[in-house]
Amino acid sequence: MKKYGFSLIAVMFLLTGCPESATYHDYYSQVEGACNYLPTTEERLTASKQLTTFLHPKCKEVLQAALPLDDSFNNQDPLIKDIVTEAFQILVGAPLAIPPKNSILGVPNLFPIEFTEYLQMEETPNQSLFNYVANQFDTITYQESDPENPNTLAAYEANRVVGEDTNRTLIIYRGFVAQPTPYIQAGLLVHEARHGDQIHHDSTCKFKTNGDRYSFPCDSLDEAYGFQIAYYESVMHGTLPLALSGQASPSSFSSSAPFFQGDIQLLGLEICYILKYKIKNKPEELQSFIQGLSCDTQTITFEWVLEREGFLQ
Ligand SMILES: [Zn+2]
Repeated sequence: MKKYGFSLIAVMFLLTGCPESATYHDYYSQVEGACNYLPTTEERLTASKQLTTFLHPKCKEVLQAALPLDDSFNNQDPLIKDIVTEAFQILVGAPLAIPPKNSILGVPNLFPIEFTEYLQMEETPNQSLFNYVANQFDTITYQESDPENPNTLAAYEANRVVGEDTNRTLIIYRGFVAQPTPYIQAGLLVHEARHGDQIHHDSTCKFKTNGDRYSFPCDSLDEAYGFQIAYYESVMHGTLPLALSGQASPSSFSSSAPFFQGDIQLLGLEICYILKYKIKNKPEELQSFIQGLSCDTQTITFEWVLEREGFLQ
């Protein structure tokens, strides 16, 4: 999901001294007033029926002004730009909390320490994470698909010199836009942002299908895939209690419910799949937990995820 290149300018920087760090912006304070909200069930349903987003007009305006979205979006259906913007809105508006016992799918001590630290950089976890992600990209651009790997949803590219990336670009592909829930998309933004810390995938992982061995990108819990599932965990633990509060049964949701049952199931599926196939050097407890799981919609139900996360006893 990454490429390297050295521009002449980057090499000249190297010869003349350290490149200046990219200026850090408090994007969160710019957009918080308009964008710090959770979409209601009604807004979610209306959005999916009318093939639109749940962005409030003012939030859309300030986010699109703040984010470095380039002209490539202007040649596309405006919905594409809005869906990308909506994923950033979720980073602002969906509350985050670190799961009890630092667990992932109920397995303790898997939650990456570095992600915890990133959530504590500023006043709130949302301000910390949104500013982290937004500051990792100089440009956000759109392409239909990656010709070398049509399944790629998003990518991070930069000119890399020691200790510093320049021309940091987040590429959004059609597959990103087609994801079934904005919470998944927000996690993909976190994943790509982690690459901006000069973290790249290991391509030595292999798995076997019908006797053939395939290699595929993977990494550790504190790298890009680990950060992605840590986001899914923290959004479930920050936002789900709001959805469940005051409800007779967790399967009934109030009109202000930020999560659909489908969101929760999809996040559970995604976490399961990443733990199983994308994380190398699994701790023993994770290995034995994941071995017995097939990460499919039959085993990963809404209730199962709630139970694993400690919301249902
Ligand atoms: Zn990646």
